[in-house]
Amino acid sequence: MKIDFNNTQNAFISKSDWDMTKAYVLFKTISSPTIVKAGNTMLSVALGVHFPINWAVKPTIYQHFVGGETISSCDAAIEKLGRYNVKSILDYSVEGKEDAEDIRLAFEETLRAIDNAGKNPNIPFAVFKPTAMGRSIVLEKASSGEEMSEQETKEKEQFLDRVHQLCKKAHEVDIPILIDAEHSWYQNIIDYATNTEMANFNKEKAIVFNTFQMYRHDRLAYLDKSYKMSQDGGYFLGAKFVRGAYMEIERERAEQKNYLDPIQPDKEATDKDYNAAIRYCLERIENIKLFNGTHNDESTQLMIDFMEENKLPTDHDHCWFSQLYGMSDNISFNVAKEGFNVAKYLPYGPVKHVMPYLLRRAEENTSAQGQSTRELDFIRQEKKRRKSN
Ligand SMILES: Cc1cc2nc3c(=O)[nH]c(=O)nc-3n(C[C@H](O)[C@H](O)[C@H](O)COP(=O)(O)OP(=O)(O)OC[C@H]3O[C@@H](n4cnc5c(N)ncnc54)[C@H](O)[C@@H]3O)c2cc1C
Repeated sequence: MKIDFNNTQNAFISKSDWDMTKAYVLFKTISSPTIVKAGNTMLSVALGVHFPINWAVKPTIYQHFVGGETISSCDAAIEKLGRYNVKSILDYSVEGKEDAEDIRLAFEETLRAIDNAGKNPNIPFAVFKPTAMGRSIVLEKASSGEEMSEQETKEKEQFLDRVHQLCKKAHEVDIPILIDAEHSWYQNIIDYATNTEMANFNKEKAIVFNTFQMYRHDRLAYLDKSYKMSQDGGYFLGAKFVRGAYMEIERERAEQKNYLDPIQPDKEATDKDYNAAIRYCLERIENIKLFNGTHNDESTQLMIDFMEENKLPTDHDHCWFSQLYGMSDNISFNVAKEGFNVAKYLPYGPVKHVMPYLLRRAEENTSAQGQSTRELDFIRQEKKRRKSN
C-alpha cells in the first residue's frame, strides 16, 4: 500500500480555515532564517529581564506546537487528534533545569503524566527527557567515568532511582514509557539506566524504551548489542528510533575537545543506518516493540511495505509511527487513516519553560533546514484546494 503523503485533505482534516491561515502565517514567518535569528535573540533578552512574552508567543508558535500549560489543558487537542485515529504522547517539555527543586517538580509532573496516560486510551505512551531528572554535569561525569564528588555520586544515585520510579509507575499502570535521547555525552548513564529498567520491567511486554539516534555512527552496532542483551536477559526490547536533533552542537564539541565526531559523515549515511535499524527490528518484531519517530516519508513507507509483505496486521501492537504535534500531519493523518498505529508527541508546559523546545522547532523549520518549505507547500496546497471547492 502506497501512502499518498501529498493528500492534504486528510492531513488537515482537523483544521478549520482559520487554523490554516494562522499556520500559513506562522510557517511563512519562521521560514526566514533572519527573522528566526532576530526572534531568538529578542526572546532570550525578554526572558532574561522577565519581560512578559505570553501575549506574543501563546496565540502563535506556542499554540501551533504545544498542547497547553497543564495535562488537563491538552484534553481538547488529544480529543481532536483521537477522532482521526491519531493518538497523543504528553511530553512535559520543560528543559535544561539545573535546580534541585525544578528537578523534583519535573519528576513529580512526569509521574502525574504517566498516571494520566494509564486512564486515557488516546494516550498510548508516556515519555521523559533524562536531563530533566538530574543535573547535566552529573549525567556527563557519570557517562564519561570522570571522578565525582560525594555529592555528585549521591545525585547520580538519585537520578537512577528517579528513572527506576518512573519506569515502575509505567509498569504499574501498564503504559510503555519512552526515554528520550539528548546529547551523546549524557548517553552512557542513560543507556545503563534504561537497560537496567528494561531487564526489570520488560519481561512480559515492552514497557521501557531506549532511544537510538541514528545520526550516530555507532548506534546500529549498539542496537544489535541491545537486542542480544534483551535475548540473554529474557526481556522484550523497546526501541524508539530518531535521526537525532543535536548534530551541530555534537560536531562542534567533538572538534573543540578533539575527539572523534560521533555523527555520521553525511545525511545519506544517517538515512542508511536509520532504515537498516527499522528493518532490523521488523525482522525481529516478535521480540522488539518498534517506535518509528520520523518526519521522513521514505522511512515511514519502508515500514509499511515491510509490514504488508510480511502480512503483519496494520495495528500490530509492536509497530508504531510517530511525529511531533504541529508538524508532518501529512504523514500522521494519512498513515492513521489506513489503520496503522500513529501517535504524536504533544508537548505541554508553561510558556517560558517550553521556549527552548519552541526555538528548536523554529530553527528546524527555517528555509535553511528545508522542512518549512515543505510544511508551507502543503498548507498552500490545502488552502487552494478548499478555495476551489
Ligand atoms: C516523535 C519524535 C520524537 C523525537 N525524539 C527525539 C529524541 O528523543 N532525541 C532526539 O535527538 N531527537 C528526537 N526527535 C527529532 C529527530 O531526531 C529529528 O531531528 C527530526 O525528526 C528530523 O529527522 P527526520 O527523521 O524526521 O527527517 P529528515 O528530515 O529526513 O532528517 C533530518 C535529520 O537527518 C540528520 N542529518 C541531516 N543532515 C545530516 C548530515 N549532514 N550528516 C548526518 N546526519 C544528518 C539529522 O539528524 C537531521 O535532524 C524526535 C522526532 C520525532 C518525530
